[in-house]
Amino acid sequence: MELKHATQNLNEDSNWPITTFAHRACFAAGCAAVLFSIAKSLLLMNAAVAPQPWLESTIAAMAAYLAADLGTGIYHWAIDNYGSAQTPIFGPQIVGFQGHHHRPSEITKMHVVYNVYITAAAVAAVAIPINLLCSDPVLLLFVGVFAGCVMFSQQFHAWAHTPKGRLPPLVAAIQDAGIILRRADHAAHHRAPFNTNYCIVSGVWNRVLDWSKFFVALEVVVAAALGHQPRSWSNPTSDWTENSAMN
Ligand SMILES: [Zn+2]
Ligand SMILES: [Zn+2]
Repeated sequence: MELKHATQNLNEDSNWPITTFAHRACFAAGCAAVLFSIAKSLLLMNAAVAPQPWLESTIAAMAAYLAADLGTGIYHWAIDNYGSAQTPIFGPQIVGFQGHHHRPSEITKMHVVYNVYITAAAVAAVAIPINLLCSDPVLLLFVGVFAGCVMFSQQFHAWAHTPKGRLPPLVAAIQDAGIILRRADHAAHHRAPFNTNYCIVSGVWNRVLDWSKFFVALEVVVAAALGHQPRSWSNPTSDWTENSAMN
């Protein structure tokens, strides 16, 4: 299956990438995997002999929501700071995120399918086998909520760059409530010192991770163990700042 990159497949009217059948197939597979996890969990809980695990499932769903925010922060930190276009598997995402720092508003012009198809493919690859093999409703709900939050994290990120007046009212409301990433919280990621606010589901972890210098500590460990310095230690004007001429 070929997944064409933005520069290879542009909409002639807008110059923004169009979605291909492969993009839409990945999106559909990711959505199906998430819905299957949640539906199977609810059916198993409903069929369970008392006591039904509603409390455990609610805790699992909350834990999944929190874990997804933390996971996107660690992944975003890693691809922002390490690797290059030549890095196997992750090279296109590394290039994409560096391009996002130069052209942050571009993400708001992409179709939701284009924003999430890569994570949707990963979600489908991991969640579908779990769905088929697992019969634990608590674990299935954890998987469904975690996968759904991770899959749509790039869209939450896109909405965090979208002016409030252009957001659907429901999206603006859940953003203002802090359920998904707030615009003001994510704006700090694009300001000096360019090494904070990496989490992009709800951003609930950003304050504690930045306050505790969690990522700085990880960077020191990686530099000591592997000899690789993160991009955030270099001159920020070169790699991290918005380039209005490129917008
Ligand atoms: Zn970034
Ligand atoms: Zn951003």
